[in-house]
Amino acid sequence: MSAGVDMARSDRVAAALAERELDGLLVTALFNVRWMTGFTGSNGLAVVSPGADGTRRFLTDFRYLSQADQQLDDRWQRDIRTDLLVAAAEGLAPGRIGFDDAQLSVREFARLEKAVPDGVELVAAGGLVEELRAIKDDAELEKLRAAAKLADEAFEEVVGAGIVGRTERDVALDLEVAMRRRGAEGASFAPIVAAGTHGALPHASPRDVPIPPDTLVVIDWGAMLDGYASDCTRTVATGPLDPRDRAIYDTVLAAQEAALAAVTAGPTGKEVDAVAREVIDAAGHAEHFGHGLGHGVGLEVHEGPRLSKQGETPLAAGHVVTVEPGIYVPGAVGVRIEDLVVVTEDGHEVLSSLPKGLRTVA
Ligand code: ZN
Ligand code: ZN
Repeated sequence: MSAGVDMARSDRVAAALAERELDGLLVTALFNVRWMTGFTGSNGLAVVSPGADGTRRFLTDFRYLSQADQQLDDRWQRDIRTDLLVAAAEGLAPGRIGFDDAQLSVREFARLEKAVPDGVELVAAGGLVEELRAIKDDAELEKLRAAAKLADEAFEEVVGAGIVGRTERDVALDLEVAMRRRGAEGASFAPIVAAGTHGALPHASPRDVPIPPDTLVVIDWGAMLDGYASDCTRTVATGPLDPRDRAIYDTVLAAQEAALAAVTAGPTGKEVDAVAREVIDAAGHAEHFGHGLGHGVGLEVHEGPRLSKQGETPLAAGHVVTVEPGIYVPGAVGVRIEDLVVVTEDGHEVLSSLPKGLRTVA
C-alpha cells in the first residue's frame, strides 16, 4: 500500500547517487526518510542504491510494523530491527556509501564506522537529500497551499476580531488554537506577536503585555498541516501612526514587492536578497535589516534554499521560499512583511493571500 509518496522521490535520490559516483546512501535524518518514503513515525532509516531497480531498504522498530506497511510503497523492502543504524550498516555491500555528515552525531558515526563490513568506504554526503527536497512535487505544493490557506483563515478570525487591549501572548495562543481547530497539527513555529518597540526584535517572544493603540504590531505565524509548514508575516496598525512608522512600513512594503517581483527561476538567493536590500538601504535603514530576505519551506519551516547574502543557489521551479524583508529600529519600531511563494519557470505563485497594504485593526 502506498500512502501517496510515490517512488519518484527515491528514484531522484538514486540518480543523484549515480552522479556523485556513490554505490549507496544511508538516509538517517527523519525528515529525509519521511520525504522519500512517506513514513511518518519517529524511528526509521532507509538505504538507497543507484538505479531504478537498486536497493530500496527501509528499517524501523517493531512499534511501526503496521504503520510502515500502510505508508510505504511495496517496493520498499522492510526490515524490523532494534538498532537500525547497526543493522543497516551490517547489510551494506562493499563500495562508496554516502552518509549524512551534517546530521549524524560523532558518536553515531563511530558506531557506524565500527559496524560496516570490510570494503565499505563511508563518504560524507550531507545535504544530498535536502537539495532534492527543496524542489517540491505537485503533491507537496498542494499541501503547502493548503497550509498557507489555513493559516490565513486563522489570522482573519483572530486578528480580524481585534487585538487592542489583548496581550501579545493571548493573541499568539489564539492563533495556535484557531489553526488547530481548522485541522492543523499545530503551529509550524511559536507565533510571534510583537507590538511597538518589542517589534524591533526580529524573534520577539509574545509577552503578557496588552497591545496598545496607535502602533505597529508584527505578527509572524504559520501552520503545520499534513506534515508541511507555512510561514507568513503581516504587520498591522492599531490606529493612526506617527509619520516615521508609516514611512518605515511603506519602505518595507516597497522592498517586499520589489524582491517578490524578482523571484523566478534563474537568479541566486543572493541576487534576490540584494533587490530588497537596495530599497531599504536607499531609505537609510541599511543597518536595520539584519537578517536574510527569506528561506525555503517544506517539511521543515526553515530549509533550503536561502535568500540571503550567502545564498549561492540559483532559484529553480519548484522551490518554495519566503520573501520577508524587515526594518527593525531598536527602541522604536519593527516592520516585517512576509509571503510564501512557489518559484516557477517564468515567475512565481504567491501562496499567502492576505493583503499587504497597511491595515488598521482595533
Ligand atoms: Zn515567518
Ligand atoms: Zn520566515
